[in-house]
Amino acid sequence: MKDRFQGIKAMDKGLISVDQWGKGSQAYFLTHLHADHTQGLSSKWNKGPLFCSPISANLFPTKFPDFNLSLLRVLEIGETHSIPLISPTSGSAITIRVTPIDAHHCPGAVMYLFRGEFGCMLHTGDFRWEKDSERALLGKIMLLKALEGDEVDLLYLDNTYCNPSFSFPPRKVAAQQVVDIITSHPDDDVIIGVDTLGKEDLLLHISHVLKTKIWVWPERLHTMHLLGFGDVFTTKTCLTRVRAVPRYSFTIETLEALNKIRPTIGVMPSGLPWRVRTLNGKDASLGSSLSFSCKRKEKTDGRICLGRSQLDENSSSPERIHRYIYSVPYSDHSCFSEIGDFIKLVQPSKISGIVSSSCCYVNPRYYFGNLSGPNKQSVQSLKKFRRSGPAELVKFIQTDAVNKERTMRDTCREVRRSRVSILRRQRHGVKIEEVDSICRSDMDAGIT
Ligand SMILES: [Zn+2]
Repeated sequence: MKDRFQGIKAMDKGLISVDQWGKGSQAYFLTHLHADHTQGLSSKWNKGPLFCSPISANLFPTKFPDFNLSLLRVLEIGETHSIPLISPTSGSAITIRVTPIDAHHCPGAVMYLFRGEFGCMLHTGDFRWEKDSERALLGKIMLLKALEGDEVDLLYLDNTYCNPSFSFPPRKVAAQQVVDIITSHPDDDVIIGVDTLGKEDLLLHISHVLKTKIWVWPERLHTMHLLGFGDVFTTKTCLTRVRAVPRYSFTIETLEALNKIRPTIGVMPSGLPWRVRTLNGKDASLGSSLSFSCKRKEKTDGRICLGRSQLDENSSSPERIHRYIYSVPYSDHSCFSEIGDFIKLVQPSKISGIVSSSCCYVNPRYYFGNLSGPNKQSVQSLKKFRRSGPAELVKFIQTDAVNKERTMRDTCREVRRSRVSILRRQRHGVKIEEVDSICRSDMDAGIT
């Protein structure tokens, strides 16, 4: 049988990069256009061919004016594309196959399934895996078709909410929660905090149900036109009481200033629950600001607790966090149970989280190690035990204990590493040349 780990470890350096833009790769892949995935990309960037989805290609010049568009290579979603490259070590011609799959995150966002001599690798980028969504079902069919029965050797996973504390409803439900908040304030103006891309479906739902246009700032209107939603949006404030504003301008100060002119409420759609914090921790008269309520506590057993009492009680429903502000659990990232569903479907041999440091970072192997890698083998051992009887049980328990210890050791290592940059979110793309070091560090930790 082919040794897939060996295949990945032996993969040539300097082959491809995903959401990493430094020099040294022959082909560069963009999952989507959010800023944390394009760090290092600029209008002057020219390090090689850049592969992306049709929608990302369409939006690209808006984000990077004067970019050399002849570098863009558009990949149709759901189709498998062959890309000829040169092995940097042997100099011989090789071919990799790549299939972009709808990531259901923001317009143009895709996952990439790569296959080649190195084995089979899936990079989710940012993704939402809603169980009952028709689009996610199509994505699932697309992924299974692309896999053609192959196993995923290495899964790069959007682990933004990889913690059981994060449980939120499908976006359809959260969108209706936003509508309900707006209709319960018939005399108020409404501002909704959004990024430069994403949450379009939420805004379209509000517009459709309330039969109103939605105000956006001029650059956002241009993006909406490019996405084909131009009719729904406007830059004229007199036409609507609902306004989507840049997330950075969504502050308590903004809401208080607006309320001096007209009654106005704010809605913040996000997977992370927001809280109002006083600036000195005590006295509200000295000022307050909005921040994530993600309280990170490390337990003595190495687990990370995220202020569960707050999160569990409220993470599925909207919450009034200030007299003018509501937090609604509308997320473009998968929640914990959806991540689990995805891993069960893919059953990768190895998992690596793409969010390497955040206030809530947990190595996905901590929770899902039993569905991947050596622990997957221990599950298989259990199945075998059920078939063959107690003689196998001893073996299973031993294997499981060792794996548990390894997973714990690995988790503690990750906790130490991310403590340095607590509250600073930094996403990491993938460079194939890093696969060697990932494998090596895992071997050091006794994982592989
Ligand atoms: Zn994103």
